[in-house]
Amino acid sequence: MADQDPLPIDASKFQRAADSPSPDDVPTPGLCGNQPNGGPYVPSKPETAATSTRAVIDMDRRWKNGTRLQVVFLTGDDAWGQAIRQAVRRIAVQWSDYANITFDFDQPAAHITVNLVPGSIPQLGWSVNWGSYNCFMGTDCLNMRKQFPSLPSMNLVFPPNLQNDPNLMDAEFSRVILHEFGHALGLIHEHQRPDRPIDWTPDVFSYYGAPPNNWSQQMVQEQIINAVQGGTLMGGAFDINSIMMYQYPQGLAAYKDGTPFVSPNNVILTPLDKVVVAMAYPVEGAPASNEQTLVPGEAARPGKIDVAGRVGRYKFQPQTEGVYTIATTGMPALVALLGKRDDPAGRMLAAEGANAKLTFRPKNVGQDYFVQVRHARPTKGTGDFQIAVTQVS
Ligand SMILES: [Zn+2]
Repeated sequence: MADQDPLPIDASKFQRAADSPSPDDVPTPGLCGNQPNGGPYVPSKPETAATSTRAVIDMDRRWKNGTRLQVVFLTGDDAWGQAIRQAVRRIAVQWSDYANITFDFDQPAAHITVNLVPGSIPQLGWSVNWGSYNCFMGTDCLNMRKQFPSLPSMNLVFPPNLQNDPNLMDAEFSRVILHEFGHALGLIHEHQRPDRPIDWTPDVFSYYGAPPNNWSQQMVQEQIINAVQGGTLMGGAFDINSIMMYQYPQGLAAYKDGTPFVSPNNVILTPLDKVVVAMAYPVEGAPASNEQTLVPGEAARPGKIDVAGRVGRYKFQPQTEGVYTIATTGMPALVALLGKRDDPAGRMLAAEGANAKLTFRPKNVGQDYFVQVRHARPTKGTGDFQIAVTQVS
């Protein structure tokens, strides 16, 4: 594995541009401007323009499991910058409830450097404006800085006029910070995963070509249409609520059967977002539970997560076609259903809660399905639960 030690930073070398644009007419909310390869396009590095990547989570760009990721703010000493810093410290760490990764802020060296202000970054060919959000993917945050040590690996250039609408500000902080730190962990855009079950319409070009985005056709191709390719991908079923999915109004894409594709403004993590990073960054040293067999219709079976990070493992076999539920009671739980043992295979489903209930219609009766039960905060929680599988129709 490549060296993943944090690099020293010299924030004085990255300065706000003197001719920063006015924030008065900033289009908000803005979209994350990541490239399909997970990081922003670097003109001097042609490979960053190629769709050479992967998604959901790119297992090849993961940090070493258990890393304490050091995050340093390069800019934003004013009051608004301090407000953003506070939001980042509060929100980014949500990922640590699920991934075995810790974030340490304001260290003398950094894995991830964060810019909060507009400016130009000529080394990368960027113009960063109010509303510009992006991040290199996973370990590329550090790899880029081996070439350009004082440059940001993440841009969180929230426009100050968000303060005029505190509710919008809170939603935007949550949406953008969780999304960009998702990239920092190695997650790609949900809408660019190669197995997405949708087709785009030509209207996608005119929609994003118009204000407030004003994207070129190439930008639409790179941000939306091009699927991530190659690499080692790991993820669950297509999740329109994923924090890594853009918001799409009706008319831009359709499912294969013609159903219009729509996705909402996602500002929180979904059960699948949580399970995927829990699988990519598991707690080390939590002994695996033996797999138990559940029988549909039988009484609920007791289970226990006695060590943080332990996973309860089950399998069952539907014998007749119909609709089944997997339900837990007791501790707040994250429940995942898999068609292959320990392999999400792009089809995993998940549910969460103190009464987590997952409803599904098995395609393959007479074959094994697999269930994983985690505490709802897998890296921290323990507790007792009961689990049952029931055929409901
Ligand atoms: Zn993004």
